[in-house]
Amino acid sequence: MRKNATALKTLLSSPKKIVITTHRGPDGDAMGSSLGLMHLLKQFRHNVHVITPNSYADFLHWMPGNEDVIVFEDNEEEANQITENADLIFLLDFSHISRIADFADTVSNSNATKILIDHHQDPDMEIADIIFSDTTACSTAQLLYEVIDAMDLTNHINKEIAECLYVGIMTDTGSFKYSSTTAKTHHIIAELIATGAENAKIHDLIYDNSSANRMKLLGYCLNKKLLLYPENNSAVISLTAEELEQFNFKKGDTEGVVNYALAIKGIVFAVFIAEKDGMVKLSLRSKGNFKVNEIANKYFSGGGHMNASGGISEVSVNDTIKIVEKIISDNKTELNNQNN
Ligand code: 5GP
Ligand code: MN
Repeated sequence: MRKNATALKTLLSSPKKIVITTHRGPDGDAMGSSLGLMHLLKQFRHNVHVITPNSYADFLHWMPGNEDVIVFEDNEEEANQITENADLIFLLDFSHISRIADFADTVSNSNATKILIDHHQDPDMEIADIIFSDTTACSTAQLLYEVIDAMDLTNHINKEIAECLYVGIMTDTGSFKYSSTTAKTHHIIAELIATGAENAKIHDLIYDNSSANRMKLLGYCLNKKLLLYPENNSAVISLTAEELEQFNFKKGDTEGVVNYALAIKGIVFAVFIAEKDGMVKLSLRSKGNFKVNEIANKYFSGGGHMNASGGISEVSVNDTIKIVEKIISDNKTELNNQNN
């Protein structure tokens, strides 16, 4: 960490053209760390752009700096031009270049010095020149705080940066409840609140800001679409494109649905399947040692963390349910051995 932080500080000692990018379907950690870093770097007279591969949920749009974000899918030409001219590219909250989808070619072909800051498993060591990877970190936002600290720059963290990092840590820890949350996490959060992060406001803006349609869709998922496999401690919820349409689906509306399946007593493996943007996307969650990142990787060209992963299915929603049912029955011994 120290050595990399010193190298990064040297790179940042003169004004640079900088691009910050993050994974497709950016979540709170992706946007919180990207925007937090943007605000920090702008203090040092760098020219900074945050470029996301695609758009993200409305409940993240209040974040400071959101109006400056360039969405690659909507502005390919501008995004490519800025990236081709960049001196430095920060890659935040992903560990494989495929996670930035169609933006990957431009980033890979760029001669810029690349810096990875990430907490996912098995980072591709070829992805960047300087790699800050800590798979034990609860969030990229926490790791970014630690990188800022290692560069002796925490005195530059202002209210804007503090709120961005707070969002990243809060969302990736399920509001500080996952086992990845440590004493260090709470120390950092305390610092961020002391620097001006309005914690109650942030929780409200992220979690208590849903459309009525979103809540009705959640009700529909739980009341009509929940498949339970109690003998194997598993649950599946699925939605087709038509069903999403019925509830006037907006990006972000299904975020967190999978956690309700996992909140059922006895359930240690929960899967949410949804047909979006012409793809069948899966969210996998588990409790205990059941490694959903291995399942995501083996069956759904995906990955993530041991207890929270995602991937894509090449077949219909119904056929995907069948594949998941097979996975559940093939893993019944392990699923029944989880302490719950
Ligand atoms: P979610 O289910 O919330 O979309 O994602 C949960 C976790 O899995 C996140 O850490 C996310 O980065 C990772 N993830 C989601 N989708 C994919 C995917 O398609 N590929 C990979 N490698 N990781 C994914
Ligand atoms: Mn993350």
